Amino acid sequence: MQRGSLIKEGKAKSLYETDEPGLIWVEYMDQATALNGKRKHHIAGKGVVNNKIDTILFNYLISEGIKTDYVETLSDTVQINKSVKIIPLEVIVRNYASGSLQKKFNLPYLQKLNQTVISYCYKSDELDDPVINASEALGLGFIQPGDSERIQELTLQINDLLIERFAQANLQLVDFKLEFGKLPNGEIILADEISPDNCRLVDLTTKESLDKDVFRKSTGDLVTVYEEVLKRLEQSEEKAHV
Ligand code: 5GP
Repeated sequence: MQRGSLIKEGKAKSLYETDEPGLIWVEYMDQATALNGKRKHHIAGKGVVNNKIDTILFNYLISEGIKTDYVETLSDTVQINKSVKIIPLEVIVRNYASGSLQKKFNLPYLQKLNQTVISYCYKSDELDDPVINASEALGLGFIQPGDSERIQELTLQINDLLIERFAQANLQLVDFKLEFGKLPNGEIILADEISPDNCRLVDLTTKESLDKDVFRKSTGDLVTVYEEVLKRLEQSEEKAHV
């Protein structure tokens, strides 16, 4: 497969056309941003580790029956994905109190939530990803009738599967962000990336942070922490197959 012209340079990935219609070339970059792109750093090794983690998690979700945009991993930093029309909502999923929810309601860190909390933000760096509800998203034309219900259904399934997979790696899934896209036939499928860039993960036992919070709060080395997540996922994958 050949890389074509640049479609879009994102914060952590660059998207290119390919010589096959319906497929895009995704390059994971050595870049980390925080505060919706306002803080940007070159971090050697980040692209490789995130591509590997995302590859493990998307292959796992696919094996459990979730439809996604993932097609194949071509190299350490390159994936081929299906081209989808991205729904411009960040779907935020929370199992325990942390981050903005913890702050908003002054909750104890990692308080177990009575049920999984799903909320949406409108994807816009310029507006700082404002929180948006389904009625607003419908009214503003970002989603169509029925989309929110389908997104919620898929999100809860994905959350259950990821909680289980991370627990096998001795990791607790605190919260995370998903994105969905639409295929030309209108079907909604999981898109974008799942990695410690958009998941809060803590060690199940010690509650040590193993995600992008170490970069956001400057408390540790990002690649070392991401490599630890990858190592645990790889080791638990080996165990699952013996
Ligand atoms: P919070 O609202 O607490 O800041 O974030 C909740 C969860 O969603 C965290 O796991 C965080 O990593 C993820 N998240 C929220 N917004 C973004 C975003 O703009 N980019 C990325 N990569 N993750 C996000």
